[in-house]
Amino acid sequence: MNQRVIKLRQKLAEAGLDALLVSQPENRRYLSGFTGSAGMLLITQDKAVIATDFRYVEQSTQQAPDFELFKTEGDLGHWFPDAAGDFGARVWGYESQHLTVAEFYALKGAMRRTSANGRPRLVATREMVEPLRQVKEPQELALMARACEITSRTLDEVAAVLEPGTTEAAAAWEIERRFHEKGGQGLAFDSIVAAGPNAALPHHQPSDHPIERGETIVVDIGARVGGYCCDMTRTVCLGKPDDKVRRVYDTVFGAQLTALSTVRAGMTGAEADALARGFIKKAGYGEAFGHSLGHGVGLAVHELPRLSHVSQDVLEEGMVFTIEPGVYLAGWGGVRIEDTVVLEKGGARPLTTARKGLG
Ligand code: ZN
Ligand code: ZN
Repeated sequence: MNQRVIKLRQKLAEAGLDALLVSQPENRRYLSGFTGSAGMLLITQDKAVIATDFRYVEQSTQQAPDFELFKTEGDLGHWFPDAAGDFGARVWGYESQHLTVAEFYALKGAMRRTSANGRPRLVATREMVEPLRQVKEPQELALMARACEITSRTLDEVAAVLEPGTTEAAAAWEIERRFHEKGGQGLAFDSIVAAGPNAALPHHQPSDHPIERGETIVVDIGARVGGYCCDMTRTVCLGKPDDKVRRVYDTVFGAQLTALSTVRAGMTGAEADALARGFIKKAGYGEAFGHSLGHGVGLAVHELPRLSHVSQDVLEEGMVFTIEPGVYLAGWGGVRIEDTVVLEKGGARPLTTARKGLG
């Protein structure tokens, strides 16, 4: 059995669970290797079953050789008693942040029908598998490095060909095309290209707004390779930036460099967040930095650890996360600079390397 499942079993024992039903797609993939879009894992101390439907029987057999296959028919309430009937597990954990309410009630009903030896109990769990995903293995890091390289080269290329009049949507399409041409699997998330006042919206969707000289253009993009995401932002400006653009840019850039150069293993997410937030506050833009400093990246673009002002997540060597301070001024625009980094003994090593600077 693979090490990931062995580690999960230790956690189940510590949590007093006999079994865990894994429904969250990235968790399912991480534990089993199965990349399909439907199915659940049923894991106990001595059983590991992948339950999926006809479409994925062949694929799951190939990709998840450590797992026993159970072919599902109908909904969860229908197949669960047959799949788990002989497990003998009394305390079943489920992923409360993912299982739908409909699935929960179907599962509850199914438990009632398997009550021969006393009714199994359902226990809501949070983040049983997610913490295991935080520290990356060498093969995961290699995929992330590749995703970040494709993203960085693409951004450098596209920044060089942006012209006044190019729409945000056209730039976003150009980025996606180049990801594919460079061997990426496509987008890790919907690209953000936000120019002028739109740049004040941290998650603006690219529109037909034509980019103009002098405004800030926030480009937040990520390619995906082997399931693994990159997440990077650069802010550029066509033509000569005015004093305000420079001042805001220098503030965010200084905050980002401060956090990049001083974040260390052993800090909490809140301590890391404070490194950049303090810098931005001192420059008078504290109120305009309304989101957290960063987040873990991996199979999901947002995962653990959290680098927010309240996060007690402890940063460890081998974790991959973003460092992305920003300043957003309604009606004017915004600046964000984001790198995906891996935390090592000496500090953070950026995996994203696109050039920085306004243009
Ligand atoms: Zn981003
Ligand atoms: Zn991000």
